[in-house]
Amino acid sequence: MKKNILTGLRPTGNLHLGHYFGAGENYVKLQNECDEFFLEIADVQALTDNFNNPDKVQKNVYEITMDLLAIGLDPKKVTFFIQSKIPEIAELTVFYSNLVTVSRLQRNPTVKNEIAQKKELFGNNGESITYGFLGYPVSQAADITVFNGNTIPVGEDQLPLIEQCREIVRKFNSIYGEVLEEPNPILSNNKRVKGLDGNEKMGKSLGNAIFLVDDEETISKKIMSAVTDPNKIKKDDPANPDVCMVYYYHNLVNKDNLETVCQECKNGTRGCVACKKELIEKMNEFLKPIKERRKVYEDNPELVKEILEEGSRKAGNKAKEEMSKIKEAMKLNY
Ligand code: SF4
Repeated sequence: MKKNILTGLRPTGNLHLGHYFGAGENYVKLQNECDEFFLEIADVQALTDNFNNPDKVQKNVYEITMDLLAIGLDPKKVTFFIQSKIPEIAELTVFYSNLVTVSRLQRNPTVKNEIAQKKELFGNNGESITYGFLGYPVSQAADITVFNGNTIPVGEDQLPLIEQCREIVRKFNSIYGEVLEEPNPILSNNKRVKGLDGNEKMGKSLGNAIFLVDDEETISKKIMSAVTDPNKIKKDDPANPDVCMVYYYHNLVNKDNLETVCQECKNGTRGCVACKKELIEKMNEFLKPIKERRKVYEDNPELVKEILEEGSRKAGNKAKEEMSKIKEAMKLNY
């Protein structure tokens, strides 16, 4: 069986280390292990919670594409496309909306979590939740199936979205015949990266993220303010690296010297300032090749546009092919 990968990212901001270690690193590996790899820049989905900020979404379509190219995704192996350039996705979302109930969407654990976060953030009872937001798993099912994606790289928290898609596929096939393939998730081995403040999640709105595009000065400021062991008061106090975010990040970008960092921290022979300075240096070394690749695209924005145009054309052809099978099964082939 062919391995067709489909994945997508909402263009709402630049990629940070959480995106890189949680997904991007895995995409770079997967691009060499599949038959087809479609990467959707999900601008329509980004509008579900940024509908009043179209400039931000449009700007980030290009920003996020540059970030993805910068981490090493090869446009010869990966088809980059813009969701809104593929009208079949919106069309299929409408067809699928009859195959899923509102209460099932409300029970979806991923959607439930996001609604809870929104309630916390906006302090209301969820009156601001839009129809479009509630329905985004249906739109994701359309994204996946219109490209016949059968292998979906996801984090654990997104598994319910894939299950939702599988349910829609089964329902479709039971009514209209065996046309669609159930997608399978592949879990990334990488865990979610914590923020500099120790929060389980790294995010722009949380102010605890290191972005791939951060300059050296910004990185230095951010790392200098990272949370360390609160019990270490003096430079030569022994400390516990397991409660320190600086150590946590050494573990991501300074593996070769990790044992030394750990021992010196425990022995009290390492001061936090020196430890942070070493991390700043290693972080800059780690980001250097990413920034160099990105610079090529920043200096030649027409290359990014070409990649998106060519990819969207290829994705559009594939979507038309799949859609004609779907419409035939649904007796919509007039
Ligand atoms: Fe953290 Fe390093 Fe300080 Fe230990 S010495 S608490 S690892 S910053």
